[in-house]
Amino acid sequence: MEVRPLVGVSSCLLGAPVRHNGGHSRHRFLTDELDRFVDWLPVCPEAEIGLGTPRPTLRLRRLGGGDRTVSNADGTDHTKDLSATADHHLERLREADGYVLKNKSPSCGLFALPVADDEGNRVHGGGRGAFADRLTRLLPSLPVEEQGRLMDASLREWFVERVFAHARLRALFSEDWRTRDLVEFHTRHKLQLMVHSPEGYRETGRLVARAGSVQRESTEETYTEAFRRTLAVRSSRGRHANALQHAFGMLSPLLDDARRHDLLASIEDYRQERAPLSLPMALLRHNCAPEEARWVRDQTYLRPYPDGLGLRHTVAV
Ligand code: SF4
Repeated sequence: MEVRPLVGVSSCLLGAPVRHNGGHSRHRFLTDELDRFVDWLPVCPEAEIGLGTPRPTLRLRRLGGGDRTVSNADGTDHTKDLSATADHHLERLREADGYVLKNKSPSCGLFALPVADDEGNRVHGGGRGAFADRLTRLLPSLPVEEQGRLMDASLREWFVERVFAHARLRALFSEDWRTRDLVEFHTRHKLQLMVHSPEGYRETGRLVARAGSVQRESTEETYTEAFRRTLAVRSSRGRHANALQHAFGMLSPLLDDARRHDLLASIEDYRQERAPLSLPMALLRHNCAPEEARWVRDQTYLRPYPDGLGLRHTVAV
C-alpha cells in the first residue's frame, strides 16, 4: 500500500525565514530526505499571531501557578494566542500522520524547556511551548517528535515508522472499507505490531474480530486508537528477534539447507548484538520472492516505509 503521509512541521525546520532573528533552522533530514516521501503542513505559531520577523524573543515563565509564554521585551503573555493556533489548524491536523516540532522553542518546543520565575530563577526544567502543549493535548495519539531527537537513528526510525503506519491506516479508513479489508490490513501489520507490543497486537486483533458486528465508525475509532497506542510502545531487540524467527518459521519449508542456515544464523547474530537488524531483514526479503512466501512478503514489517529512506541501515535495535 503506497501512501504519502501528511506531516505537520515547525515552518523554520523547512527553511522558512520565520525565526525571531529572521533566520531559519533548516533540518536536512526533513528537507533532503523525508521531503521526497511526505507532504508537509508547515505552521509557525509566532508568525501566525502576528509577532512579525524580526521580533523580540519569548521565554517560559511561571505566572499564577502556570507556565506561560511571554515576551522578553515587555512581558506580554502570548500563551493563549499561541495555543489557539493549534485549534485554528485542528481540522487539517486531524488528517496529519505526524508532527515535527522545533526544540527549545517557547512556542514549539516539546521537551525539557526551562521555566523561570519573575526574578529569572529556574522553577523547573520540564516546560513545553504553548503551541506544542496544546497540539499534544488536542491530538494525544499523533506521532510527535522534536527535530533534535531525530538525530538519534533509533528515534528517527521509530517516528518515521509510526508516521507511515498512521498514513496506511488513514488511507484504509478514508475509503469505503469492508471488514475483510481491515482483516487484511491487520494481517499485514501482524509482525510490525508484535515488535512493539504483543498485547497491543492481541487487543487490535480482538477489535478486528468484532468489526463485523459493530458500527464502522466505532471500529475506526477504537482500532485507530489501539493501533497507534501499540506502535507508540518502543520495540526491543528481543521482540524483533522473535518476529524474525516467526517469519523464518513461515519461510523455512521453502528454503534449502544453506539458505535456512544463513537466515537462522543472521537472526541469532542480531539477537546476540553481533549484527544490525538490516542483516536478517535483507535475507528475509531476499528469500520471500516465491508465491508461497506471500504472507511474509506482504508484512509491512519488511517495508515499514520507503526503502529510499535507508533508515534501517543505521538502526541497531
Ligand atoms: S520554532 Fe516555531 S514559532 Fe519559532 S520560528 Fe520555528 S515555527 Fe516559528
